[in-house]
Amino acid sequence: MISWRRIKQVWVDPVWSKVIAAGICGLLAISGAAAFKSIRDPLLAVCTASVIWLCADTRVPNVLLLLGVLAMGAAACWTVMHVRRIPIAKWREYVEDVFDGIKWRWKVGSDATIYRLRPFCPRCDCEMRYVHLSPYDAAPSLGLRCIQCEYGVVAKVADADDLEDRVRRLVDLQMRKSGAPTP
Ligand SMILES: [Zn+2]
Repeated sequence: MISWRRIKQVWVDPVWSKVIAAGICGLLAISGAAAFKSIRDPLLAVCTASVIWLCADTRVPNVLLLLGVLAMGAAACWTVMHVRRIPIAKWREYVEDVFDGIKWRWKVGSDATIYRLRPFCPRCDCEMRYVHLSPYDAAPSLGLRCIQCEYGVVAKVADADDLEDRVRRLVDLQMRKSGAPTP
């Protein structure tokens, strides 16, 4: 049966303690690498813990052993806190696209709602304005014009609401393809 005394003997043994430390560090590194794509942060924590551990003299157990354990615990907490940062979902970063010659920008809510949809000039990035075309045209159409570079687009829709509704549906489709919840 493994007694506490035996564990302590192994723990204070200069060779075994390093083997155990290396094992713990290895496990931390492997689990960090397996669970998270970016191994930089966990690896840094493991290296820090290893340096602290290897610098400690395990022949003087009580104080330095405690410090070593505390340092390992702190490094583990730091690792957990940092790797628990949830990466921003792809669909939340999708806030700009070009449809039919117009660069659209919008904001996305946490429930995947799209708001503040605005048209921008693909040439100079100035926000475009809606212009009323002749009501005598055969097909309904809406104009968008850049006030800076005079770039213009004619959309085959009845009005601005119609155009924005069309763009909102296209954006929504792309977001759902990237894993966004259906609003
Ligand atoms: Zn422009």
